[in-house]
Parts: sequence; structure tokens; C-alpha cells
Amino acid sequence: AKAAGRGCFRYYEPEMNAHAQLRRLLQLDLQRALKANEFVLHYQPQVDLRTGGVTGFEALLRWHHPERGLITPERFIPLAEETRAIVPLGEWVLRQACAEASRWPGGQKVAVNLSPIQFAHGHLPSMVATALRLSGLAPARLELEITEMVLLSDTEATLAALHELQALGVSIALDDFGTGYASLGYLQRFPFDRVKIDRSFIRRLGHSRESDAIVRSVIELCAAINMATTAEGVETEEQCRILRAGGCTAAQGYLFGRPSATIDAAALQQS
Ligand code: C2E
Ligand code: CA
Ligand code: CA
Ligand code: CA
Repeated sequence: AKAAGRGCFRYYEPEMNAHAQLRRLLQLDLQRALKANEFVLHYQPQVDLRTGGVTGFEALLRWHHPERGLITPERFIPLAEETRAIVPLGEWVLRQACAEASRWPGGQKVAVNLSPIQFAHGHLPSMVATALRLSGLAPARLELEITEMVLLSDTEATLAALHELQALGVSIALDDFGTGYASLGYLQRFPFDRVKIDRSFIRRLGHSRESDAIVRSVIELCAAINMATTAEGVETEEQCRILRAGGCTAAQGYLFGRPSATIDAAALQQS
């Protein structure tokens, strides 16, 4: 363990040990897990706040490991990013989400999360084009969710990739808005179709003047520059009411539905 040099302190921390263990497991296991169909997508409804209708579903990745049980994305995606296993895994997510959405009778959109690593190493526009072609899904029904982490690295190449993706006809949403550093600058630099306001702001709605003011301003700002807004993590009627009054266009959260492996047939029919 000493030979590990600067990183050797890690060996004395049980958490780090678990991390190292899981990381090794993931590296060895990913190809097998993909082939063995251990990954599944759960879908969470996205609701139009003006009509109340379900306009789309966000695909959220789950790993049903045979021995470890259900592993949540917060645990394995950072590791998959470190090892770049996120590239083939992300390609599976894209293809699977497009294929499943192509069979939804209501024609709702599907939102897919992308990792910064997929931009750096994944030939993303052609990967997306292939997923659309294989599934027959109309490009307008695919929304790609990125965080500003994507924009931090190599901005020229990233902006070019984002423009290429929009040219395919898919839409781009900026995820977790408000949690990063220079968010307003990013809104100016790239024409997102949608901004998703982070759950940390929504959580305090109605109980914090600051959160109320921030959320209201973000909604107004986005409206002024022609970007739709989705509130994340909406759990209460009160939050919903404040958002609707503020002009927020869409919402997602446990109030409307938890991520689920099976989508309610009624939700699929309406559009
Ligand atoms: P995210 O993109 O911000 O997704 C929203 C997360 O909030 C999901 O957690 C969802 O289950 C949770 N959530 C939704 N509504 C509520 C609510 O009302 N209350 C609370 N407390 N939580 C709510 P999940 O599914 O564990 O995913 C965590 C993160 O993992 C995602 O955050 C996303 O960053 C990442 N992720 C998930 N699937 C993928 C994927 O296919 N690819 C990539 N690159 N990342 C993914
Ligand atoms: Ca997301
Ligand atoms: Ca989010
Ligand atoms: Ca998040």
C-alpha cells in the first residue's frame, strides 16, 4: 500500500476501500453486465405545468447487480467516468432509451443524461444519429441533458458537438442549473432549448425568500431568452403552485411520479 505514494492515505479509509473495490469490480464487470442485461432504465414523468399533461420521461440508469443488488447511478457513474466505461454504457443508454421511447403510443419525448466523458471520447453526434436511425425515433422526441461540467472542458469542440446535435433535430437541456460556477455565462454561450432548475432551489420554495426570488428570476430570465424551464424534484403542491404562478413551463418530481421500470399505461396514452 505504501508504494501507492501520494494516494496511500486512501488505504486507511474504509470508504475509500469500498470505492476502490467497487471501481475494480466495475472495470472487470461492465462488459459482462452489459451483455447480461443487468442495466435497466427507469423512467420519470416530465409534466407540462400549464396543461398538466405528461410530455416526456427522463431515463435514469439502474444497475441490478446479481450479488450487490440495486446500485444507484450516483455510486457507479463517477466510477464509470473515471474508467471511461461510461462511453459504451452511455451508448447502451442512448440506444435503449430511443428504442423504448419509439414504442410509446403517446409520442412523448425521452430525456437522456450525457456525461462530459462522452463528449471528450465518444464521437457523440454519430452515436446519437445511429441510435435514432436504429430505433426510428423522430429526432424531435429526443432531449439530451448535459451539466455545465460538459462546458467546462474544451469549449470549442464541445460547442461544435452541441451544434451538430441540435442540427440532427434533438433538443439540449442544461441540467442541475444553479449548482455550478458560471451558469449565466453558459446560457449566453450556448442556445439551450431548456434549463432544468436544480432541486436544491425547489426544495426551499415557499420557505425561503431567497429561493423564491432565485427561482422566479431564473424562470423570467429563461423566458426572456426563449428557453423552457423544468423544475426538478417537485414534491409538494405548494412548490407546484409557486412554480406555475411564476411561469415555469414544466416540472418533474415525486409529486408527479417516481422513476419506475414500468410506465403507467394511462400516462403513456395521453400526450
Ligand atoms: P439527475 O439527472 O439530476 O436526475 C434526477 C435525480 O433526482 C434522479 O436520481 C431522480 O430519481 C431524483 N429525483 C427525481 N425527482 C425527485 C424528487 O422529487 N425528490 C428527490 N429527492 N429526488 C428526485 P437518480 O435516478 O438516482 O440519478 C442520479 C443522477 O445520476 C442523475 O441526476 C444523473 O446525473 C445521473 N444519471 C442517471 N442516469 C444516467 C445516465 O444514463 N447517464 C449519465 N451520464 N448519468 C445518469
Ligand atoms: Ca438529468
Ligand atoms: Ca438534474
Ligand atoms: Ca443531479
